[in-house]
Amino acid sequence: MPGFELFGEEERQAINEIFDHGGGVVFAHGFDAMRNGSYKVREFEREFAARLGAKYAQAVSSGTAALKVGLLSLGVGPGDEVITQAFTFVATVEAIRETGAVPVIVDVNDTLNMDPAAFRAAITPRTKVVLPVHMMGECAEMDEIMAIAKEHNILVMEDAAQALGASYFGRNAGTMAAVGAYSTDAGKSLNTGEGGLVVTNDEQRYVLARGLHDHGHEYSKTKGRGEEGAICFGFNYRMTEMQGAVGVAQLKKLDTIVARQRENKAKLMKRLQALPVKFRRSADPNGDLGDTIVFFLPDRAKTDKFVAAMRAKGLGTKNLPDAIGWHFAKHWKHVMQGNPRYEGKCDTAWEKTADLLECSVAIPVMVKMDDARIEHVAETLLQVGREVL
Ligand SMILES: *Cc1c(COP(=O)(O)O)cnc(C)c1O
Repeated sequence: MPGFELFGEEERQAINEIFDHGGGVVFAHGFDAMRNGSYKVREFEREFAARLGAKYAQAVSSGTAALKVGLLSLGVGPGDEVITQAFTFVATVEAIRETGAVPVIVDVNDTLNMDPAAFRAAITPRTKVVLPVHMMGECAEMDEIMAIAKEHNILVMEDAAQALGASYFGRNAGTMAAVGAYSTDAGKSLNTGEGGLVVTNDEQRYVLARGLHDHGHEYSKTKGRGEEGAICFGFNYRMTEMQGAVGVAQLKKLDTIVARQRENKAKLMKRLQALPVKFRRSADPNGDLGDTIVFFLPDRAKTDKFVAAMRAKGLGTKNLPDAIGWHFAKHWKHVMQGNPRYEGKCDTAWEKTADLLECSVAIPVMVKMDDARIEHVAETLLQVGREVL
């Protein structure tokens, strides 16, 4: 998770630089005479794309905006269906709805990511895009998903909001499909307060995403911003220079963040092998971002007891179960209004996902856990296990 854990002097300095050297220009475009060549959002985009080995990154105002702009850049609109998964943050489905397309929501499997078989079963002639989400730092089974998509001529987009820094058999999360969407909100790998990026290797999609996020602007090399024409219908999802500057500073810390999380997770996992539970299956254990440990308990009653005992000993969980309402489609009646497929049916639409998520416990792995803290967390969980299981 942990951009917010390593947040301080470098980020403060990055903001100061906008004033010290960049003429105090906090808008990403124009003001050329004032800004001394200081373009922080553009710098963040370039470095973000380079770090991921992708050709283009378009910064936007949030991860939710990145999802919407990404979907629109793939041509998604009314009449289309977009397949995603029942375990995700609500933003994924909001973004699909915002494009006018119909969200089709399928079960996850024991990876807690999209079940490829459920994706296949949900395909119709109207399916335009499949949008797997790499939840809690682990990639979905992309080889299977991409193969099925190819067979049916379906475009693939990745929601990599929770997986910046993770990989799948050597490929970076968010760069495997036609388009990837990332978030840099305060809970993600990098923290710019609010922010998101759309990443692609396709120049035309990038140009379209750039226009879509900024009123259709063509981004001319010769005309001033005011004289530019529009290449498409757009909106305002722009990132500010303050976010861009902080993003550049945060990005320098990404390798450290990933390395420390993986190290801390490995230490914890070694101790937790003694816990009599089944752990979440990893599609590629070597690519895990390392920010979460998830295990399944035998039933809901035991899960409630386990979490209550954890809380009594001062240990919290990460989203499962404490924020399950924001991460499981079963709870999104407000999003499904007017959607005949799910309106009034959320409670029973994803039984398989419910059986998994409602028996899941997720433990946060932090960058700044020292060995004493790791030992304390592990020992407490083992104690709870002895009491409850
Ligand atoms: C955080 C998140 C988003 C949305 O990102 P924001 O920057 O908060 O808008 C989208 N999808 C997933 C899976 C997320 O975790």
